[in-house]
Amino acid sequence: MNVDSTYNTRSLVLIVDDDFFIRTLARDALGQAGFETEETSDGDEALSLFSRLQPDIVLLDVMLPGTDGFTVCRQIREHPEGANTPILMMTGLDDVESIRKAYDSGATDFISKPFNWHVLGYRVQYMLRSSRTLYDLDNSRLSLSYAQRIARLGSWEWNVENDRMRWSDAVYEIFNVDPQELDKTYQAFLNFIHPLDKELVSSAVEEALTQKKPYSIDHQILLPDGRERFVHSEAEVIADKNGKPVRMAGIMQDITERKEAEKQIRNLAYFDSLTGLPNRILFKENLDHALAHAGRKSSKVATLFLDLDRFKWINDTMGHSVGDKLLQEFASRLSKTVRKSDCITHDNLSQPFYSIARLGGDEFTIILDDINRSQDAAIVARRIIEESSKPFFLEGHEVFVTASIGISIYPDDANDIVTLIKYADTAMYHAKDLGKNNFQFYSRSMTDNAFELLLLENQLRHALEREEFTLHYQPQVDMVSGQVFCLEALLRWHNPELGMIPPSTFIPLAEETGLIVGIDEWVLKAVCRQLKVWEEEGLPPVRVAVNLSGQNFVQKNLPERIRAILETSGVRPECIELELTEGVLMKNGEETVATLNDLKAMGLSLAIDDFGTGYSSLSYLKRFQLDTLKIDKSFVQNIESDSENAAIVTAIIALAESMKLRIVTEGVETAEQLDTLRNLGCHRIQGFLLDRPQTSSDITLQLRDGKSYPKASLP
Ligand code: C2E
Ligand code: CA
Ligand code: CA
Repeated sequence: MNVDSTYNTRSLVLIVDDDFFIRTLARDALGQAGFETEETSDGDEALSLFSRLQPDIVLLDVMLPGTDGFTVCRQIREHPEGANTPILMMTGLDDVESIRKAYDSGATDFISKPFNWHVLGYRVQYMLRSSRTLYDLDNSRLSLSYAQRIARLGSWEWNVENDRMRWSDAVYEIFNVDPQELDKTYQAFLNFIHPLDKELVSSAVEEALTQKKPYSIDHQILLPDGRERFVHSEAEVIADKNGKPVRMAGIMQDITERKEAEKQIRNLAYFDSLTGLPNRILFKENLDHALAHAGRKSSKVATLFLDLDRFKWINDTMGHSVGDKLLQEFASRLSKTVRKSDCITHDNLSQPFYSIARLGGDEFTIILDDINRSQDAAIVARRIIEESSKPFFLEGHEVFVTASIGISIYPDDANDIVTLIKYADTAMYHAKDLGKNNFQFYSRSMTDNAFELLLLENQLRHALEREEFTLHYQPQVDMVSGQVFCLEALLRWHNPELGMIPPSTFIPLAEETGLIVGIDEWVLKAVCRQLKVWEEEGLPPVRVAVNLSGQNFVQKNLPERIRAILETSGVRPECIELELTEGVLMKNGEETVATLNDLKAMGLSLAIDDFGTGYSSLSYLKRFQLDTLKIDKSFVQNIESDSENAAIVTAIIALAESMKLRIVTEGVETAEQLDTLRNLGCHRIQGFLLDRPQTSSDITLQLRDGKSYPKASLP
């Protein structure tokens, strides 16, 4: 007998039959086929033999004395090791009832007596083989499902024709549902897809079916308990021989953890840790997206560049923790202001489109996508400026800030992000130049301006040595006596190439470049020379006010430098008043107090210039020994009709009086202004109404003449 012996080696057949002859014949036939055999005539003994020997296959007669074959079969199946053991039952010929009962009891197959003994070996061999194949298949299915579960990877198959789906265990686990609870249809499957991604998934499936091509996508699912998970899905279509899609097979892997890690990495790389806003990198990416999007729709994009006006000062004086809090609160206020109506969600981006970013320090950007007119950006900018100026309450302080905003527009100003950012930045600086707390659109003249500034700077560097500076003097008049009590020295620059350049242009540049320190020193020396000339001519003594930029206070030896100039020229300190801005007083704290005390002790007068524009609180002034307070000209404009300005001036006067300060009001241009100021109690006036700044020779003539002005009595 040439039975394939692979399956027979050491395979043990348990023969259970009460018929001695059958047992013998079976033993012989199987022995010849290479099987080992054990036998019993008794049903009860069969079970204990099964337990002990664990045969590979059981040959079992239905009719046994005592416990019958069907019962034995059932008992073997219930045995922990017996679930998969092939059981071949021996029945009477055409005994249909027995055949049915044999299957019901769990038999693998049956064989009818009388047997063809030659065939028995083959039957047993094939049964073993197929049972092993089944066993292996079961095993590999088990380990596959185990692997799938570990990888959170499920597979599914969809019969397109009858809409039945088969899902592996891992799919149920990913969906977190009981297999029993589910319809196995495509719709049931689709119900798990996140509403945001339904469209994405169903069109991927549709496209796969119509074009018979595989898909591979990441999307979200929504679990019955409301949790959201991320999955990676791949599927392909199986077509029949006519090319008609009949089935679809796919896998689904839960990648939520990976997505979460990606998100974390993304957060670190793309978001500012202090405010949680997108950082510079993400801002640029977003702007790129916005431009592409607007390009397709022929709409506009506005880039707003925002810089806080007083942040550095707050940070320096109140400390970094207040500074940080301010930035956080500002960021959240900004988000609320902009998001209210201007948050844009892109149609093909599942994540929200971030329109606000923090570039670093106190610089923020806002992208306004999809606008029709550049004026839309102005509306937003105005609202931001309004919101910014409301007070912040931080660590017990009430803090005020303002913002300056520059705006550039795509495609009007430029087509690329680099230029748009640069232009918005330029416009922001322009807003600062115009007094801060405002917004400006970029215009070509600003870049021309930047170029001009560079040219100017080069010229400014040589202005001193080329002796291009002169001084003009503007009288300050006491309206009660009609006499000049002080002259303000004002610098004039005439450049042979550029002509007259106004101080409002070159002074800020000189401050930025640090050239101002040398320039102010030149001014003080020139004033001292002039005073000496007047003194030697025998003119009545007059005080001269000299503007001193805050930059001078950065150097430690300011009092010594001034003392040296005074001593060299032989001018009495009482003849000089130094005009300082509020910024100087606020910036440097205790050191400034000491420096100013030194200057004061030397006999110099101190004035605070442009008062009211620098946000310094009135009580702040008490720390300094000042002589004069100059009310800024911005309060004088329209003072006759603007009750708010009049109220501010009244308050400033009350303060100055309580601190025994001399008040000078500058920028008086009209008789009405003068009249109003007189009624408020200001009688020391500087302004075009009385005199413009004059050349030194004109002012010398005037001093010689002893010019007096019309007197005005106080109320
Ligand atoms: P400032 O110290 O506030 O000087 C007063 C400015 O107001 C002067 O402008 C003066 O010409 C102008 N002014 C006087 N009366 C009137 C008026 O009735 N109406 C109007 N609209 N303006 C009036 P100027 O000379 O152009 O100087 C501008 C600024 O440049 C000065 O403002 C001061 O901050 C700065 N500056 C001028 N000279 C020097 C200097 O020698 N050193 C420093 N550091 N800064 C200086
Ligand atoms: Ca001044
Ligand atoms: Ca002034």
